Amino acid sequence: MAIKKIGVIGAGVMGHGIALVSAKSGYTVTMRDIEERFIEKGLANIEKFLKRSVAKGRMTEEEMALVLARITTTVHMEDLQDCDLIIEAIIENADLKKKVFSELDGFCPPETIFASNTSTIPITEMASATERPDRFIGMHFMNPVPLMKLIEVINGLRTSRETCEVIMALAGDMGKIPIEVNDYPGFVANRILLPMINEAVYCLMEGVATREAIDSVMKLGMNHPMGPLALADLIGLDVCLFIMEVLYEGFSDSKYRPCPLLRKMVNAGYLGRKTGRGFYDYSK
Ligand code: NAD
Repeated sequence: MAIKKIGVIGAGVMGHGIALVSAKSGYTVTMRDIEERFIEKGLANIEKFLKRSVAKGRMTEEEMALVLARITTTVHMEDLQDCDLIIEAIIENADLKKKVFSELDGFCPPETIFASNTSTIPITEMASATERPDRFIGMHFMNPVPLMKLIEVINGLRTSRETCEVIMALAGDMGKIPIEVNDYPGFVANRILLPMINEAVYCLMEGVATREAIDSVMKLGMNHPMGPLALADLIGLDVCLFIMEVLYEGFSDSKYRPCPLLRKMVNAGYLGRKTGRGFYDYSK
């Protein structure tokens, strides 16, 4: 099936980026959030990115106007009913996401494909809240969406081959590199990244090395652009803890137990860059 119109639910960090990339690739987009103020913030971020692209000579004023003209916004879910694909990027809460998909399922035509940008919530579980598990898939974009090439495309247990092929082709049209994976806790990206970060926190807790030494070993020795502790501060320590808990519960395997120091930092409100303090101090 040909995708022409894309609905994006959520205008936050990821949603506005997905709307931007979709419109830039020529798709008509409707971006939905629950309140106008969230939509305005998302639109302002889209305009800021496009203006920077114009200033850098990567696009003309006319091209920017065309991209913006392809995006409409709404606070009403029903305005997404003529979309061929709906990509959900609301907060990471399984019950809320299932409620949104169940509502959409009630009024969208049966051929509409549903995709979730979830980092951790099982695709198969969300798909089961709809009558179209074959047309349900994960599209895990990376942050910042306009700059990062990867989309982890996640097949739920009942996702059809046709749905996967449509989404793989669409991701390519968006200028991204889609990688197909199957639905297990953390998929591939977070299943490998987060235990590495968690292990770095154990190294810090056990006094194996200082935070700077741990990060330097991984940067200089493994060619990582950022050390794991600095990266944890960027992701948010609460998000890191949440993902470790999903892995721990999802596999019932002690190797995924969150490090007590990570939990203590979260309890203290040291969540990383967003609170001015994590493993490093960002207050200045
Ligand atoms: P965010 O908090 O920045 O944005 C979420 C937006 O969803 C908010 O604007 C909120 O008002 C809106 N929203 C909440 N309920 C809604 C509803 N019922 N209908 C419409 N809008 C609703 O969150 P984010 O960082 O953009 O994350 C969104 C999703 O993307 C999450 O599932 C997250 O796990 C995933 N993700 C995040 C990142 C990241 O680095 N931030 C990376 C990959 C995936």
